[in-house]
Amino acid sequence: MTATTTLPQPDPLAEQVLAGNRRAIARAITLIESGRADHRARAAALLDTLRGAGRQALRIGLSGTPGVGKSTFIESFGLMLTGQGLKVAVLAVDPSSARSGGSILGDKTRMEQLTRDRNAFIRPSPSQSQLGGVARRTREVVELCEAAGFDAVLIETVGVGQSETMVAEMTDLFLLLMAPAGGDELQGVKRGIMEIADIILVNKADGDLKPVATRTCADYAGALRLLRKRPQDPEDFPKALMVSALEAQGLEDAWGEMQNLTNWRRKNGVFDARRADQARHWFEEEVRQGLLTRLTGDAAARAELARLGGQVAQGQLAASVAAAQMLALLAGENAASLREAGE
Ligand code: GDP
Repeated sequence: MTATTTLPQPDPLAEQVLAGNRRAIARAITLIESGRADHRARAAALLDTLRGAGRQALRIGLSGTPGVGKSTFIESFGLMLTGQGLKVAVLAVDPSSARSGGSILGDKTRMEQLTRDRNAFIRPSPSQSQLGGVARRTREVVELCEAAGFDAVLIETVGVGQSETMVAEMTDLFLLLMAPAGGDELQGVKRGIMEIADIILVNKADGDLKPVATRTCADYAGALRLLRKRPQDPEDFPKALMVSALEAQGLEDAWGEMQNLTNWRRKNGVFDARRADQARHWFEEEVRQGLLTRLTGDAAARAELARLGGQVAQGQLAASVAAAQMLALLAGENAASLREAGE
């Protein structure tokens, strides 16, 4: 019998995802979110294959405090997009899922109509032990949705600082949803998030709230003009607009502005440059996390960490010296595995 070399077979799941098969997409997401090493390896290979398809969606981040109308907005905005024949995926990065295992988008009564729409795909936030883990997996799910042929991927997050920064690192556009409010509340809006936002949407611009919304929108527009200029963007961005998610008002204008900004950025190379920076960021983040996992996941490393920690605690060793010894140990392992890989 002659020995045959088996070449790695393309994952059948890849074909199905590329064909937009919803069950395959859900299965691939389960692999991505799994903590099992074999699942992670298959997910990584799958994503690598899918990247070859070269499909691109518009990645849109959306943030706002609870009650501002995020799910109402996603429902009506999503339906408007599917009404135009576009395919929409909705994901979430939920900091509370890191703590409680609960998750935004988990409640099926939210976005009832969009949930039933064949051209929409809604996925709750993965439950992971840390926000960083949630974000890294969501970022991979974004890539998966892109390969599966979605035109827009919306990523929802609740306004609590760090999660917004992470979502901004994986999206092309960032929307901030705000409620009609007095000037005092405007003062409370964190500068950081105003700087991330490309478009501020003042929601609930309907009924009795319309006059307040009009004033609020003007206030935000004024505040945005005072922010640092963005030489890479058209002069009138970032901008503030009014919408009513409940009455589906202003959504087409908002979409038009998102497209204007995106087209401008594409034409000027800003779009691709931003994606390149983001890819580099996530690569470095994966390396950092991989090293941390090695530090805490490997029994020998853990034992050494505990031993050195004990010496530091008892004043036998300076923290910096102990840290250098620990890093040298990890680097030594790296060198050994690099040699192995080269053999
Ligand atoms: P989320 O917590 O940010 O997801 O907010 P929800 O979408 O659950 O909305 C919170 C409340 O605000 C609900 O009672 C909605 O009906 C209401 N709401 C959302 N959008 C609008 C809007 O455009 N106008 C008005 N008047 N109410 C809205």
